[in-house]
Amino acid sequence: SSFAHLGFDEQLMRAIRRSEYTQPTPIQAAGVPAALAGRDIIGIARTGSGKTAAFLWPLLIHIMDQKELAVGEGPIGLILAPTRELAQQIYMEAKRFGKVYNIRCVCCYGGGSKWEQTKALEGGGAEIIVGTPGRVIDLIKCKATNLQRVTYLVLDEADRMFDMGFEPQVRSICAHVRPERQALLFSATFPRRVERLARDALHDPVRIQH
Ligand code: AMP
Repeated sequence: SSFAHLGFDEQLMRAIRRSEYTQPTPIQAAGVPAALAGRDIIGIARTGSGKTAAFLWPLLIHIMDQKELAVGEGPIGLILAPTRELAQQIYMEAKRFGKVYNIRCVCCYGGGSKWEQTKALEGGGAEIIVGTPGRVIDLIKCKATNLQRVTYLVLDEADRMFDMGFEPQVRSICAHVRPERQALLFSATFPRRVERLARDALHDPVRIQH
């Protein structure tokens, strides 16, 4: 498979070439077309599979497709991850590729400065939030952000989020995002409670395993 099959525009292709990616990974080759078609996805994949770009590239295109970007506030894409390290990795990649379209991204994790994260979110400041579940809920509670505009939700490393005790927070966030959103769930393993979350939070998902 080659990047030409994914139908990206020249700007995004240039950024991909700059990253020295020569061809899509299997999860990208299967996941990107499904995500671009608006499908919900269960991705059984680990770190190293290229899953981050598999959900980020379609998110950027999803954001660029919005006709009324100026209307409303709050992120369009919300990405939940279990740890600060993973959230920061995703954030770096979102910044690198988001720059292509001037899409702004904020990273919100527990243990980081809530004041700085609130500042970064001010004035509807970002189209994408990458964060850990507890801190995202915190920031919603203190009205630093809201989920009204979220139409693309990613649950990354769902199994680890549950291992870390974030199930209630993840479920609460899912319940607060509008029901007609697109949702993508990634997990290295697929235990019963992740399966239950997938059943509750996803609509007719495509299952991709790599
Ligand atoms: P991930 O599984 O998303 O954590 O990605 C693992 C690593 O693979 C990251 O360092 C990415 O920058 C890199 N990567 C992602 N997609 C590709 C690709 N198509 N070709 C080569 N490297 C990639």
